[in-house]
Amino acid sequence: MREPVDAFIALGANLGDPVQALTHAMAMVGGLPHTHITRHSSFYRSAPVEATGPDYVNAVIAVSTCLCAPDMLEQLQKIEQSAGRERSTRNAPRTLDLDVLLFGSARIDSPALTVPHPRMTQRAFVLYPLAEIAPEWTEMAHSLGMAAQRIERIEPP
Ligand code: ATP
Ligand code: CA
Ligand code: CA
Repeated sequence: MREPVDAFIALGANLGDPVQALTHAMAMVGGLPHTHITRHSSFYRSAPVEATGPDYVNAVIAVSTCLCAPDMLEQLQKIEQSAGRERSTRNAPRTLDLDVLLFGSARIDSPALTVPHPRMTQRAFVLYPLAEIAPEWTEMAHSLGMAAQRIERIEPP
């Protein structure tokens, strides 16, 4: 068995019932083999970035997992599919998006998986919920500003 790793996963949805989708997805991730959730952020509502469509609901969770990163991605994609995720055009509205932000101290650059997530530091909808559970990201979140990318905290899940 591998040593457990602390990983951070971003959740987002803007079709169907996003709060329900994120709540269900958190339970599914927490139920993965050799994985448990250690922290979760509040839910946030954010405007789509480089896209049109309904507002998103976003959150970030921290997990402790003995899965390897590719296996975690595969499991996350299965959960996306079970939520009815369809892949059409880039940044298209979606019922559920699960991204690996950080996976311990791993740096991964394979065709299927890049970690740390290469766009995470540009995204208020990632950094604000991340900073809530990993305060070392607070300064970077604030450097983006909430005004530039509209985002507001909604009730805790
Ligand atoms: P973005 O990556 O900019 O947030 P997206 O989430 O809309 O865009 P998707 O269509 O969900 O993009 O995923 C495209 C591919 O990205 C996936 O098939 C997956 O193999 C790959 N990918 C690379 N790195 C990661 C990562 N860290 N987390 C999740 N998927 C990743
Ligand atoms: Ca994404
Ligand atoms: Ca994704």
